[in-house]
Amino acid sequence: MPVRPGNRPARVGARGVLAVIIAGAVVVIALWWHSTPGVHGLGGWLTGAGEILGLLCGYGVVVLVALMSRLPPLERGLGADKLARWHAMGGRYVVSLVVAHGLLIVWGYAVTAHASVVSESATLLTQYPDVLMATVAGFLLLGIGIVSMRAARRRVRYETWYYLHLYTYLAIALAFSHQFADGASFVTNLTARFWWSAMYLAVLVLVLWYRVAVPLRSFGRHRLEVLGVKEEAPGVISIYIGGRRLDELAAEPGQFFRWRFLTRSLWWSSHPFSLSAAPGSDRLRITVKNQGDHSQALARLQPGTRVFAEGPYGAFTPGDSGRDVVLLAGGVGITPLRAIFATLPGHVTLIYRASSERDIVFRDELDAIAAARGATVHYLVGSRAEIGGDPLSPRVLRSLVPGLDQQEAYVCGPAGMTSAAVRALRAAGVPAQHIHFESFEF
Ligand SMILES: Cc1cc2nc3c(=O)[nH]c(=O)nc-3n(C[C@H](O)[C@H](O)[C@H](O)COP(=O)(O)OP(=O)(O)OC[C@H]3O[C@@H](n4cnc5c(N)ncnc54)[C@H](O)[C@@H]3O)c2cc1C
Repeated sequence: MPVRPGNRPARVGARGVLAVIIAGAVVVIALWWHSTPGVHGLGGWLTGAGEILGLLCGYGVVVLVALMSRLPPLERGLGADKLARWHAMGGRYVVSLVVAHGLLIVWGYAVTAHASVVSESATLLTQYPDVLMATVAGFLLLGIGIVSMRAARRRVRYETWYYLHLYTYLAIALAFSHQFADGASFVTNLTARFWWSAMYLAVLVLVLWYRVAVPLRSFGRHRLEVLGVKEEAPGVISIYIGGRRLDELAAEPGQFFRWRFLTRSLWWSSHPFSLSAAPGSDRLRITVKNQGDHSQALARLQPGTRVFAEGPYGAFTPGDSGRDVVLLAGGVGITPLRAIFATLPGHVTLIYRASSERDIVFRDELDAIAAARGATVHYLVGSRAEIGGDPLSPRVLRSLVPGLDQQEAYVCGPAGMTSAAVRALRAAGVPAQHIHFESFEF
C-alpha cells in the first residue's frame, strides 16, 4: 500500500546555499585582513595574495565535502545531480586556487628574500613545518582534478574514478597542519584556530553521520532484502525489495536510493536507481536498464539477498503547485515518472518517448493508471525518420498538451533527450522555473 511521506526533511534553496557559501568566503577574507598589519613591496603583495588564496582553498575544500555530505536539507533542496555539478565546478576552482596559492607564496617569499624561485622552493619544502606534506596534498588534488576532467573521466571506469576521488580526504588531512604551522592568520591567533578546526570537525561529523551512521542504522532497522526480479522489456528488469517500517524512510515518488546488493561480487559498489513505484510500507521497487557490468549482474539477484540502501535522495519530487502537469519520459527515464504518474493529484499528461515498441516499459501499468485517474498517455515510438520529424518539437508538444505553457513539466531521460526536451518546452512557452528535470548522470 502506498504511504504518505511523514517526516520530510526541510529544503534549502540554491540561492540560500550560495549566499551562505559567499558569506563564508567573505569571513575568510576578513580573517586575513584582521591578521595582516600591512602589505609592503612586491614580495608582500604576492605573499598576501597567496595567503588569501590559501585560506580560500582551506575553506573551499570544506565546502566541497559539505556539498557531498548527504545532508538531507541539501539533498532535498538542491538534488543530488545539482550538488554533484556544484561539487565538480567548485572542485575546478579549488584546484586552480591550490596551484595559484603555491606559486604566489613561492614567488612572494623569493622576491622578499632576494632569492631565486628554485632555491626558495627548496627552503620552503625543507625548513617550513608541514609544507612538504601540504605540497604532496596539492599534487594529489591536482591529479584527482585532472582525472575528473570530462575528457579523462570518459576514459576511466566510474569505480576507478570514484575510489581515486576518495584520496581527496587524505589530501585534506595532509594539508591541514601547515595552515596552523605556517599561515599568518593562525600562528598566533588561537580563536581563529579554534573556529577553523570547528569548521573542519563539523563537516567531518556530517560526513560520518550521514554517509556512514545513518545508512548503517537504516540497514539494521529496515532489513531490506530482494523479494524477486522480473523482466520488464529486453535488458530491463524490476527488482522488488522488501523491508520493515519503510514508511519511516519518508521516501517520495521521484526519489532514488544508492543501492548496494550484498552478494560476493556486488557488495563493494553502490549504484543510484530511482523508485519506479510509489514506496509502500513493506516493499519498494526499482527498475534497471542494462547499461554495463553492474546493472547486467542485477538480473541474477536471488530472493533473500540483503540490500544496503542509502537514501532517499533527490529533489525531483513534484510540489503542490495547483497547475496541471506534463511528464516527459525518454527510455529508462520513465522510472521516476512512473512513480510520480501514479500518485500526483490533478490533471496529468504523460509523454513517453521510446525508440521501439519493444523498449516501452510498464505499458500495461501506465495504461491502467491513466484509465483509473483519467490521465492521458502519449507514446512517441520510433526513430525521427519513422515518425516523420522531431517528436519533441515545440509544435508537437503544444498539440499534444493543450495549455502547455501554463503547466508544470517534469523531464527524465538520456542526457541528450533531456536537454532537447527542456529547450522545446522553453520554446513552447513554459517558464524555466516550471521545468524540472533529473539527470541519470553525476
Ligand atoms: C539519480 C540517478 C537515478 C538513476 N536511476 C536509474 C533508474 O531508475 N534505472 C536505471 O536503469 N538507471 C538509473 N540510473 C543510471 C544508473 O545508475 C547507471 O546506469 C548504473 O549505475 C550503471 O552502472 P553499470 O556498472 O551497469 O554501468 P557502467 O558501464 O559501469 O556505467 C555506465 C555509466 O553509468 C554511470 N555510473 C556507473 N556507476 C555509477 C555509480 N555507482 N553511480 C552513479 N553513476 C554511475 C556512469 O556515468 C557510467 O558512465 C540513475 C542514475 C542516477 C544518477
